Amino acid sequence: MAGIYIHIPFCKRRCIYCDFFSSVSMEIKSQYIDALCKEMALRKDYLNSETVETVYFGGGTPSQLDASDFEKLFSSLHQSGFNLKTTEVTLEANPDDISKTYLESIRKAPFNRISLGVQSFDDSELRFLNRRHDAQTAINAVKLCQEAGFDNISIDLIYGIRYPSVRDVWQDSLKQALDLNVQHISAYSLTYEEGTELFRMVEDGKISPVDDDLSISMYELLVDRLVQNGFEQYEISNFAKPGCRSRHNSSYWNGTHYLGLGASAHSYNGQSRQWNVSSLKGYIDSIQGGEIPAEMEVITPPIAHNDYIITRLRTKEGINPDELAKLFGEKAKERCLKLGDSYIKEGMLVLEDNILKITYKGISISDSIMRDLLL
Ligand code: SF4
Repeated sequence: MAGIYIHIPFCKRRCIYCDFFSSVSMEIKSQYIDALCKEMALRKDYLNSETVETVYFGGGTPSQLDASDFEKLFSSLHQSGFNLKTTEVTLEANPDDISKTYLESIRKAPFNRISLGVQSFDDSELRFLNRRHDAQTAINAVKLCQEAGFDNISIDLIYGIRYPSVRDVWQDSLKQALDLNVQHISAYSLTYEEGTELFRMVEDGKISPVDDDLSISMYELLVDRLVQNGFEQYEISNFAKPGCRSRHNSSYWNGTHYLGLGASAHSYNGQSRQWNVSSLKGYIDSIQGGEIPAEMEVITPPIAHNDYIITRLRTKEGINPDELAKLFGEKAKERCLKLGDSYIKEGMLVLEDNILKITYKGISISDSIMRDLLL
């Protein structure tokens, strides 16, 4: 099995926390679509005829494309000769773009999963984040997708956005999310990435990040509420009703090969990882000249070891020390258990039934735990 990711780097406006590659100008949209079609042809052999079961349109804001754009892209995808037997085709959408007319217009495209960037059901939080939609628009968008027949809907949420009532607001957002009866929820703590407007606000002293204890308690609330309501937590930030895990996103954690098309898109084929240039013009010019504008990293044994540690700690599977020894040698197992020991004593990691996992308490420092266990 393999997957294809298609990056649509256009947004109507920028959200203050976002460091994804995207542009607010749509001027070169049609040139970009043409370049994507050409990249499909240029990279038709990347997946070695593996069966492509998932296709994911991410962004940016893929719902800024119209039906004719999708028609062109899907038709190129089919003509390029990929071995397509898709079971999951996802469209990431901004709630503000969803209307009955829009959903009808894209009905011919083979989407069977919609991922809505809701982020919050609180208007003041949404305004603060500079999102385009308000809470009611998000609720309407979910309902419109359900009425249009989508039975696999995911919503993204962010917690830890504002003081002082941040926990109450999060509780209300979770309740609203559950009331909407969606099949999948991805929830992330607000992060302060360098180069974003939000990062500048912290630097200028205009806001301060939510402290760790509060963040942990909101994460606990998230996991408790969702698990009580029939969701399975299959990754640190991802929750699914039975049978509704995101198959595409799971590829990033389970070693499935994927081809990323478009500016800034990443690809992985087991031997190497590569990533396209994060520039619209650079991408279009190279592709039109028949070149893939990508950098590449070969997967050496230490990189494979580190990938294993990161993905296993992020997912429900956790690290099985015996499997680690089998894959990377007895020393790797001893090293992992030795380095993990202090975190176990502090309650950040737990070793249960021979599986090493991150605890609630460890989530807020999961990045540094992973860094410590890497080679
Ligand atoms: S969060 Fe999404 S909509 Fe907002 S700027 Fe980033 S990619 Fe665009």
